[in-house]
Amino acid sequence: MLLIRGAHVVDPQVGLDAVRDVVVEGERIAEVAESVQVPVGAEVIDGTGKYLVPGLVDIHVHFRDPGYEYKETIETGSAAAAVGGFTDVATMPNTDPVVDTGEGIHYQIAKGDACGLVHVRPIGACTKGEKGEQLAEIGDMAHEGACMFSDDGHGVQSAGMLRTVMDYVRQFDRVVACHCEVDSLSNHGQVNEGRASTRLGLAGWPAAGEEVEIGRDIDLCRLTGCALHICHISTARGAELVRAAKAEGLPVTAEVCPHHLFLDETALDETYDTNLKMNPPLRTPEDAAALREALVDGTIDCVVTDHAPHAPFEKEREFEAAPFGVVGLETSLPLVLTNLVATSKMSWSRLVEAMCVAPRRIARLEPVRVEEGSVADLTLVDPAYAFDVTPELFAGKESNSAFLGAHLTGRATDTLVAGRHVLRDTKLA
Ligand SMILES: [Zn+2]
Repeated sequence: MLLIRGAHVVDPQVGLDAVRDVVVEGERIAEVAESVQVPVGAEVIDGTGKYLVPGLVDIHVHFRDPGYEYKETIETGSAAAAVGGFTDVATMPNTDPVVDTGEGIHYQIAKGDACGLVHVRPIGACTKGEKGEQLAEIGDMAHEGACMFSDDGHGVQSAGMLRTVMDYVRQFDRVVACHCEVDSLSNHGQVNEGRASTRLGLAGWPAAGEEVEIGRDIDLCRLTGCALHICHISTARGAELVRAAKAEGLPVTAEVCPHHLFLDETALDETYDTNLKMNPPLRTPEDAAALREALVDGTIDCVVTDHAPHAPFEKEREFEAAPFGVVGLETSLPLVLTNLVATSKMSWSRLVEAMCVAPRRIARLEPVRVEEGSVADLTLVDPAYAFDVTPELFAGKESNSAFLGAHLTGRATDTLVAGRHVLRDTKLA
């Protein structure tokens, strides 16, 4: 038994934003009260000055397993998640082989369970091999526990193919998560088309290469009635399209990554830092400001990392040869706390919506609430914990972070998964 004493509990689902004592017994929350007697034999954790929230969820990570285990495995990725305060992660299917069958889903769930760290929730591919040509085994994958469907890594280029996917996925009450990219427009682009591409002499990836497909996919959502989730939105116009779709009442949701919120193309300079190379690319300062606003006002539903580990030998190449992607699990919460919550731009309640409540809803996971009887997937956060982002912070295999060197304030100190301590006082248990 565990007593978390005197933490400030924030859970908008139960209208809680106050100091409480929380007792965990076995896998579940046994009691939430203003003050409880220490149960006999209970371990007591002092929550004074800390915040207790439902476990964080990241519905967009790449754990590289199977096929690219040299970059990350389900075990090392899960460790990175626990350190970041996450109790649940949804893994993208662009592994080798691509997760496009029930067997692939089963493999990741079993491996996640065997690690005994966080809940691993696999996402199934929309099309076989993510090639965009034939429907993947969607029914089989839904049956095995796929939480969403996505061909992340690229857009489904054929509108007709995506329509078929959406018609099919709709029957299983799942969401299709779209990486929106028109290949013929992004066309080997390295950085945002405009200032960055001109200044650095690199091929440009225009905002329209993303926005055209966001618009198309919203049209297909309207046509099919299938829930649509827009992945890693990076432009102001993209957020505007989502805002209009929501106003129309369409089942559209969207996510944004910390690097698109807190960095922009002006960070790219003559050093050609490949840790600033991601897909979609860093956009303009105006785009980043619009994304922050859209996250705070709820147009963008949730924060995800697009955690994409790459080995040093891959990132330590010239910019054009390096792969896209950065890690993010260990720094996501600290970045949001430092840049939005500590500056009073975002409330704790909105943070919990965006990092705990909405992602569970989108991925069709059972809600977790800070109330008696709920599964004890919980994150304890120290908002005053100040630290520098150094390679030692990273518990995953790689440290290809866009935020190396940043000074951040606030992080998860404890992560509880089904009542088990997987992170204890900032150390993996
Ligand atoms: Zn993507």
